[in-house]
Amino acid sequence: FLLRRRALPPAPLPWRRRARSDGTAPRWDVVVIGGGHAGTEAAAAAARSGVRTLLVTHKADTIGQMSCNPSFGGIGKGHLMREVDALDGLCARICDQSGVHYKVLNRCKGPAVWGLRAQIDRKLYKENMQKEILNTPLLTVHEASVEDLLLMEPEPDRPGKCQVSGVILGDGSRVHAGSVILTTGTFLRGVVFIGLKTHPAGRLGDQPSIGLAQTLEKLGFAVGRLKTGTPPRLAKDSIDFSVLERHMADNPPVPFSFLSEAVWIKPEDQLSCYRTLTNAKVEQIIHDSLHLNNHVRETTRGPRYCPSLESKVLRFPNRIHQLWLEPEGLDSNVIYPQGMSMTLPPELQEQVIACIHGLEKAKMMQPGYGVQYDFLDPRQLSASLESRLVQRLFFAGQINGTTGYEEAAAQGVIAGINAGLRVGGKPPFIISRTEGYIGVLIDDLTTLGTNEPYRMFTSRVEFRMSLRPDNADSRLTLRGFEEAGCVSQQRYAQASQMKAAIEEAIAVLKSLQFTATKWSRLVPEAPISTNRSSLASALDILQYPEVTMELLARAIPEPLRKFAECRELAERLKIEAVYEWHVASQQQEIEEVRRDEALQLPEDLDYFAIDASLSQEVREKLDSNRPQTIGAVSRIPGITPAAIVNLLRFVKTNR
Ligand code: FAD
Repeated sequence: FLLRRRALPPAPLPWRRRARSDGTAPRWDVVVIGGGHAGTEAAAAAARSGVRTLLVTHKADTIGQMSCNPSFGGIGKGHLMREVDALDGLCARICDQSGVHYKVLNRCKGPAVWGLRAQIDRKLYKENMQKEILNTPLLTVHEASVEDLLLMEPEPDRPGKCQVSGVILGDGSRVHAGSVILTTGTFLRGVVFIGLKTHPAGRLGDQPSIGLAQTLEKLGFAVGRLKTGTPPRLAKDSIDFSVLERHMADNPPVPFSFLSEAVWIKPEDQLSCYRTLTNAKVEQIIHDSLHLNNHVRETTRGPRYCPSLESKVLRFPNRIHQLWLEPEGLDSNVIYPQGMSMTLPPELQEQVIACIHGLEKAKMMQPGYGVQYDFLDPRQLSASLESRLVQRLFFAGQINGTTGYEEAAAQGVIAGINAGLRVGGKPPFIISRTEGYIGVLIDDLTTLGTNEPYRMFTSRVEFRMSLRPDNADSRLTLRGFEEAGCVSQQRYAQASQMKAAIEEAIAVLKSLQFTATKWSRLVPEAPISTNRSSLASALDILQYPEVTMELLARAIPEPLRKFAECRELAERLKIEAVYEWHVASQQQEIEEVRRDEALQLPEDLDYFAIDASLSQEVREKLDSNRPQTIGAVSRIPGITPAAIVNLLRFVKTNR
């Protein structure tokens, strides 16, 4: 097996030999612990930025394993993938080589909040990811369990308890490193739950990490406990799809990566998903068997936005819930029933399945289960994901309290880049809230922490009109190349050319100013309703849904033809035009909130009664947080910018 052969060559590894012989500093620049979604991105990012990197993981064969759902992307998550890709990360490209059903979610809304998503062939993803890791220069994989950290005195000019200098493996050998990144997912003191049975495991079939959990505790890190779960898997050939609602993939599929012109699969070969529903019988079984379901009775917090079937039934009684039957691969007989995560005893899971429409004869291939694990309070990290307590020790992924492959990958890239920069004594690479979803994710975690598995949403992002999936390369690729050295020359050249072309085209479009009467003659498709003599630019006209760059170029071939000829450029210009007004008005709202940040909120404000346009969730958050000022409101996670503005205007008019 290729990875193993490369990871464990017949001769002793250089670090092992030298460490034992002379005790001098044979070391890797960066050691990454864990080969999950955070770890692979971290290791590859560190290596791309030019430092010698070792990835130590329990089993090389599980690199690229998707522990739960066979899908990537979605609302908010698709943005993270685009940003990971803009920094030359792996997951978007690997998804374009492994997807079997591509769908853009939220199509009915604007492109700023479109959610690129795909069902992925599990086997292919793993194979392609392992190939990629194997072929990354400066990156070596070693199969082992890390049991402890090597520590030394802190650097004199930096406060901190101590500094990490390497790791100790299960066989007692030492690996020295300039920086260490911990990406152990759900493995720290992981315990698996099925019905009344529990056993220690990081996920089903994998040993938990106990030694490292004890080390973190001894070092004084604050840790908490979270839980998550996964549904049973069903045999495809035992499901009656003929009675279910079929959902086809997009044609043509939209790739995740800026480097992919198309995805690997032919549009017509994509697989379908199917929808079915729960019913009263399901609810009854769940209610009747609560005493047999330890995971549900535990008070540990689970993922609010990806709840178990039991939590949905308990929280929303007498409701019907959707279940999506998703394929796990082209030649796989496994179906993943999304929405059916449960931890009942296996025989009761089979009963639940059997009373669902289309699944009456479905065979359960593996029961659903839950897992509880330690996570680190991420407020102990700086924005570079380095810990404040132990220098040169970085954390990324589910260990920081997040859930999801994309959240893990996004943190992995940033930790990998910064661990490498730290070794070279260079300033950290930080993405701010105004620059990317990654910035929002890391800022939320490191400043506010979390008490439930954190998931990315567009509503967490204040500047979502400008932080769009289409422009992630313009926002991040150039910085990634110039400041972090983690972006290839080819990608840098491509992103720079596109950015320059967009800027040039926008300047030209703005300079073409005519009266509404003339525009109506030039582009009759545009339903112009303004004063006939008022001036409008070509960029204003491009905002109309009926107008494309092609139409504009037909009306004014010179100088517009060259911009319309490139399909990708034309599409991006259309989006820029649509958002020009929104971005400007968002900027005004930002200014409005910034001006009134210190505005005091009345202490007795009844958030459930006030006549302001606020969702129930926002009202609940305001009521439980009781912020004192508008500035404090804007730091509560999940409060939308629109809600802040609405509250601000309400308070100002009613004081
Ligand atoms: P992981 O992917 O868990 O990878 C951790 C890696 O570290 C593993 O390879 C492990 O072998 C290695 N490792 C751990 N300790 C050591 C050690 N001491 N030495 C060497 N190697 C070590 N996400 C969702 O979005 N929705 C869901 O519904 C959902 N359900 C889930 C259900 C279950 C049961 C599980 C386990 C996860 C679920 N997830 C879900 C979460 C998703 O799988 C994770 O968010 C994601 O995989 C986290 O990536 P990671 O890299 O942080 O950790």
